[in-house]
Amino acid sequence: MPQDTTIYWNGKGQLPALIDSLPLEQQQVVLNAIHQKIRDGIEPAPLSPFLFFGAIIIIISLLVIFSNNKNRKREDENNTAVFDTDPCLPEEPTSNPVLSYPGNKLDFSLPVLLGILKKHSVYFSALNPFEKDKFIERLKKFIAAITFVIHDKSGFKEMPVLISAAAIQLTFGLEKYLLPDFDYIHIFPEEFIGVHPSIRVLEGNVSGNTINLSWKHFLEGFQYPDDGQNVGLHEMAHAYYYQFFETSQYQSDSSFVTGFPAFNNYGNKVFEQEAKPGFDLYSDYALRNFQEFWAESIEIFFEKPAVMKAQYPDLYSSVCTLLNQYPV
Ligand SMILES: [Zn+2]
Repeated sequence: MPQDTTIYWNGKGQLPALIDSLPLEQQQVVLNAIHQKIRDGIEPAPLSPFLFFGAIIIIISLLVIFSNNKNRKREDENNTAVFDTDPCLPEEPTSNPVLSYPGNKLDFSLPVLLGILKKHSVYFSALNPFEKDKFIERLKKFIAAITFVIHDKSGFKEMPVLISAAAIQLTFGLEKYLLPDFDYIHIFPEEFIGVHPSIRVLEGNVSGNTINLSWKHFLEGFQYPDDGQNVGLHEMAHAYYYQFFETSQYQSDSSFVTGFPAFNNYGNKVFEQEAKPGFDLYSDYALRNFQEFWAESIEIFFEKPAVMKAQYPDLYSSVCTLLNQYPV
């Protein structure tokens, strides 16, 4: 296990040691604006008052039940999920605070960015000085283009920096690295609840124009950089797929788009192979559908590249080509 000083989230409202809190003056409660944005983008069907309050009672009950459920599904994207901050709920900022940080107001100094990246990102630490400059430049632009919404009482500098760093890591070999169709990244302290189309516990998902992440699970991805699991890279893989293929075609990265058919081809063979007994590089979750297979392929590519190359050389090489990165 690599040495790492990543500090876990200790619980709602608690400030983990060695994690810097964001400046208070930049914390704003902007529920109205966020809810309006969500209504504009992914409004669920309106509920009658009876159904509405019934749904709230069910959700609260399930929250209690699911809080002890260890076999959680990571996520289930491709839906118009709403979360425990359901836009239909009465707006009570005092009982359910949301902190919003427009990235273009988060003017992190170079020492702050370097401090966080060197401490938490094995990927960044391995770059040469020229690449580090390029990484920082891209990171700043990515942060500036996103609004980070934190569903807790405190926000941490590591949140926008490390989450954006996952995006920059994934696209570091590409020309296009921004996500212009994603305006918001929502950060929940721990697992959160998706209620549509079904109620389930999530560590992360991509929905509408937002990326949603559990900070606790996101940090675990960075703490164990070689276990093949990284929810930040996983959700970014979904987000870039949607950005390049399903949203603004003009934003597509040519290397990514032209490289994807080869991944698709070899991926289908590996997908079938992994479904057989005795093959377990991929989780069962990855074999639910090809989108999950794609996202988990990215996790394995960055965290277990030598294993992937040895076991599935064609697949590994196709990911190298489409990302223009060669980790082995
Ligand atoms: Zn997924």
